Amino acid sequence: MSVDLNTLNIIFGVFVFLFGISMGSFLNVVAYRVPLKISIIKPRSFCPSCKTQISNTALIPVLGYFFTHGKCGHCHEKISIKYPIIELFTGIITTFVFYKFLNPLVILDTLPHIFSSYSYQFSKFHYTNYVPFFISLWIIYTGIPLSLIDIKYRILPDAITLPGIMIGFVISSLNPQMGWYESLLGIGVGAGGLFFIAKLYEIIRNKAGMGLGDVKYLGFIGAVLGWKGAIFSLFFASIIGAFFGIIWGIISKKGLATAIPFGPFLAVGAFAVSTFGSELLYFIFRN
Ligand SMILES: [Zn+2]
Repeated sequence: MSVDLNTLNIIFGVFVFLFGISMGSFLNVVAYRVPLKISIIKPRSFCPSCKTQISNTALIPVLGYFFTHGKCGHCHEKISIKYPIIELFTGIITTFVFYKFLNPLVILDTLPHIFSSYSYQFSKFHYTNYVPFFISLWIIYTGIPLSLIDIKYRILPDAITLPGIMIGFVISSLNPQMGWYESLLGIGVGAGGLFFIAKLYEIIRNKAGMGLGDVKYLGFIGAVLGWKGAIFSLFFASIIGAFFGIIWGIISKKGLATAIPFGPFLAVGAFAVSTFGSELLYFIFRN
């Protein structure tokens, strides 16, 4: 049986998208539970209002919200539209990153190596084909809950940033384009650099501008993307953050003194560097 590439792309696209929206559902749970210090595994999802366990229908990503008309089946309290939006967004961005770094042929080429003890005539399996994809996913799947938590509570919990640094270090040690040394340097430059900036700001303006959460988060970004990646992520985050800060200052009529959470901008910056790094560098440095 032969399947043309278009059909393959659609089949893989559907599976990756379904995986993505399910991940989005899990990330909603992480963002809700981590700040409240509830386990992310048990108990199963419950209504935030009446704490009744959510029905199987309501648990279906994206569609569950519409099946239940956006209300809890028990207390009829409205469920935030934010949940299906995050699920849909995670699905779309996961599918995008899949086609950016991988394609069905890479996966099909890998399968024989997993299912057989010896190699056929297939090209050699390189796990390195998967590294940029997993790096991008790791940045996205931590960035989404960190952003949601930062917007709501103005914190970036250690429960996410510290494992982020450790797992990031492991991924980078396996990444031939990075290595453990570059990763360690990234942690130092990312966290150290931002800590220095934060202290400097404190001394000059005599008030705290940035939390230690941001410092650890940039250390995490450095662990995954290296010291250059950390600097570029901070650079993009600052530009986008300043832009939004000005817009928000005008809309909210509070002026530039309004403190806005920096975590979401760091997440966008890290995503931009991990996904479009080479294109962005080309765009900045072409002459
Ligand atoms: Zn309820």
